[in-house]
Amino acid sequence: MCIQGYRGYGYSKDFTKNMGKIVYTLKKDPSTQVKIIAKTDILCSCCPHNIDDKSCEHQYKVDHLDKKVLDLFQIEKNKVYYYRDLLDIIRKKITYESFKNICSICQWFNYGYCKEGLIAIR
Ligand code: SF4
Repeated sequence: MCIQGYRGYGYSKDFTKNMGKIVYTLKKDPSTQVKIIAKTDILCSCCPHNIDDKSCEHQYKVDHLDKKVLDLFQIEKNKVYYYRDLLDIIRKKITYESFKNICSICQWFNYGYCKEGLIAIR
């Protein structure tokens, strides 16, 4: 979900460089395969809040968001999906209410970028 509203902002220069590369790859080639994991992942690898590649300084919040996303989209942990299939799942299941329910505790929620990005893929 976070990829849809990404505008190049983030937690540090390294984070945005890494995130930008991943977003570019996925958007350029939607047949890219993505493994769903509910712990620190490739997006977290350059984040200043990442603790030794094992957890996040805000892990309680991340766990809460991950669980809600997995439940809503009914996607499985440790399973590999094509990015385009994940987009289809988001398109079919996301509503403003479910987006708000999942994301309202996120610091990026009030900027509106994610809302716009998620509307754009519908
Ligand atoms: S509001 Fe936060 S958690 Fe939700 S999609 Fe945006 S960046 Fe991701």
